[in-house]
Amino acid sequence: MDHRMTRTTTGNRVRALFILLLAASCTNTSGPDVEHDAEEHVPQQRSGPPTPLFDPDSAYAYVADQVAFGPRVPGSPAHKACGDWIVRRLRAFGAQVTEQQGVVTAFNGQKVPMRNIIASWLPEAKQRVMLCAHWDTRPFADKDKDRPNEPIDGANDGGSGVGVLLEIGRHLNELVAPVAGDAPGIGVDLIFFDVEDMGEPANAMVGERNSMDSWCLGSQYWSRGPHVPGYNARFGILLDMCGARDAVFYQEAISMRYAAGIVRKVWRTADRSGYGDRFVPETKYFVGTDDHDVINRVLRIPTVDIIEFYEPTGGFHPSWHTHGDNITIIDPATLKAVGQTVMEVVWSER
Ligand SMILES: [Zn+2]
Repeated sequence: MDHRMTRTTTGNRVRALFILLLAASCTNTSGPDVEHDAEEHVPQQRSGPPTPLFDPDSAYAYVADQVAFGPRVPGSPAHKACGDWIVRRLRAFGAQVTEQQGVVTAFNGQKVPMRNIIASWLPEAKQRVMLCAHWDTRPFADKDKDRPNEPIDGANDGGSGVGVLLEIGRHLNELVAPVAGDAPGIGVDLIFFDVEDMGEPANAMVGERNSMDSWCLGSQYWSRGPHVPGYNARFGILLDMCGARDAVFYQEAISMRYAAGIVRKVWRTADRSGYGDRFVPETKYFVGTDDHDVINRVLRIPTVDIIEFYEPTGGFHPSWHTHGDNITIIDPATLKAVGQTVMEVVWSER
């Protein structure tokens, strides 16, 4: 159903009623002025449904479900099964799901199958918000002394962002449900990027541009050829490593460079929502690249990264790219702080 059509029809009906009432009570009013007056009384602002509660246990279960598939290494059976599961969940939540399949080349020349998954609510709306995370996991544990050549669980690096997005997706039908006589709401896209974490092990995420370009292959693919030609959104929010116990989120430097206004909006919203202890309004330089980098540079959609800064390492969580990145480090309280904040931001868009 075309939502805009519904609104226009209702608007005309309200206007017609207004003209009728005014014409009945006033004898001296000219037509065009009445039309203008009436137009101003047609509600243009969507009053909006209240923000639902983000369920941390549901989000945690979505993280555990992913880990239970095994490492989601592109090309593996576990990766395929998990991707199918994500698509099934999104369809059950009422999304229109688009998949982007392609082949990308890893840093070592290996050809890797890539599958970006895009879930859209109110796909015809021009005004949109984009939320994203990567759903693949790293094929090796290059920061671990033990079993460095084996893939990691990626409960935090991959799993946490997807878990939060799925729990938000579970509520998105409530946001976009048509309200009689109201302006159309905004559309929302959840994008699950593939092959983010196959980057070159040496100088991981802090090296030369060539080395940095070996990361984020799914988001590079999408940024250069979005699922909808000319795709645009008011802003984007990337979730990466957002589920560890006691995680604190500082204002990440790439986000500040390209999307400082959106960073401030998100961090202010977190504070208002009671998560000021988790979202600290100070800038830290600790991410060499991430999926939001290419989106900002190529598509110029102001996109921020909510990613943990771990004070003792001056960078990422110590479990990063090790076998320590498993379900035991995930805390529903962290997922809640991130998920509720992002929902407040999205639900307050008009
Ligand atoms: Zn990673």
